[in-house]
Amino acid sequence: MKGPLIVLSGPSGSGKSTVIDQLLADRSLPLRLSVSATTRSPRPGEKEGVQYHFWSRERFQDAVERGEFLEWAEVFGNRYGTPRAEVEPYRDQGTGVLLEIDVKGWEQVRRHCPDLVSIFLRTSSLETYEQRLRARRTESDEAIQRRLQGARDELARAGEYSYQVINDNLDRAVAEVRSIVQKQLFN
Ligand code: ADP
Ligand code: 5GP
Repeated sequence: MKGPLIVLSGPSGSGKSTVIDQLLADRSLPLRLSVSATTRSPRPGEKEGVQYHFWSRERFQDAVERGEFLEWAEVFGNRYGTPRAEVEPYRDQGTGVLLEIDVKGWEQVRRHCPDLVSIFLRTSSLETYEQRLRARRTESDEAIQRRLQGARDELARAGEYSYQVINDNLDRAVAEVRSIVQKQLFN
């Protein structure tokens, strides 16, 4: 059977990468995170092919023209996309594939994959995103402001996702996401 496709979206700072890291630490799950391509620069500690494929604008544009992306979008001034090669071969082997993508990307994917399950990760207060992004110390003030403005637009779409998970408490959020994912993988 084809592996399920699961989308995780949420405002910047909601904890998507942290939750996914914890989920994938459980190596017994037949689940893989799709590695997106991006034109943004790597943050300290990020490695090519691990968090992202870090591509130039030209290389990204070539891939768009060749139809290599399942979806792509401009997010906070950079381009991000899901290469088809990160998804279909794994699903065909029965492995579940997790996409960590924004709302614009999810809208594109759901058009082709009606069986898609989607999770929106959020916190219970708006202030938390700013506090977490400042504490993460990976973006400039300007980039943080841009991400906070994006949060309002994304939150307005949260109700359209199959599930909403609150990440105020990390362990609880990971447990909730794990239970949704297990249901897709094993039911
Ligand atoms: P995203 O991938 O959604 O932008 P991150 O996973 O990078 O978010 O998380 C943003 C920051 O918040 C990180 O520094 C992370 O360690 C921290 N964080 C994530 N979840 C929690 C939580 N439940 N409580 C407190 N801090 C958290
Ligand atoms: P970051 O720069 O913090 O890693 O990611 C910024 C935003 O881009 C997040 O909302 C993330 O979900 C989104 N994103 C990451 N990869 C992709 C992708 O392949 N496609 C789309 N549409 N969005 C992505």
